[in-house]
Amino acid sequence: MTSLQEILNFNEFFVAHKQYEPYITTKYPDKRIVILTCMDTRLVELLPKAMNFRNGDVKIVKSAGAIVNHPFGGIMRSLLVGVHALQADEVYVIGHYDCGMSAVDPDQILTSMKERGISQETLDIINYSGVDLREWLRGFGDVTTSVLKSVDLIRQHPLMPKGIPVHGLVIDPNTGRLDLIQDGSEFL
Ligand SMILES: [Zn+2]
Repeated sequence: MTSLQEILNFNEFFVAHKQYEPYITTKYPDKRIVILTCMDTRLVELLPKAMNFRNGDVKIVKSAGAIVNHPFGGIMRSLLVGVHALQADEVYVIGHYDCGMSAVDPDQILTSMKERGISQETLDIINYSGVDLREWLRGFGDVTTSVLKSVDLIRQHPLMPKGIPVHGLVIDPNTGRLDLIQDGSEFL
């Protein structure tokens, strides 16, 4: 059975047996918080549990490495929607130790792309269009520096209202321990 079929079978059972009932809530975050964190699989359940968040408590935006890599990209837009349309009034950027994004080698990814059928011509066209693919794919060396960079970008964004604290933290992906890197309320 394919994983898609497995998922659809399970889903039918889930809905039929009303297993969704404990999760019913509204689209507004009860704790008025929007979180930017990494897509790492170890954080899927651990992060909300370690912070005592239940379904409906917070908005969670995820990107590889918890990085905002463009001030007008999709990640930043999601954070702004959280604040302006969905009643969040606090932002948390939560990186983690042992992040896959800290070891990303742009050359390895480009090689993989070519091995999987993406032509050199396509890569050249993208590069000639003003996108430095190597730079775009690059990860970060140090998670603390990377979190601070994202925190700064969000706090100083021209569309982010003043008075919204932007906190920076790093989580241990095994124990869930949080290290505070920057308390955003110090900048209010
Ligand atoms: Zn990560």
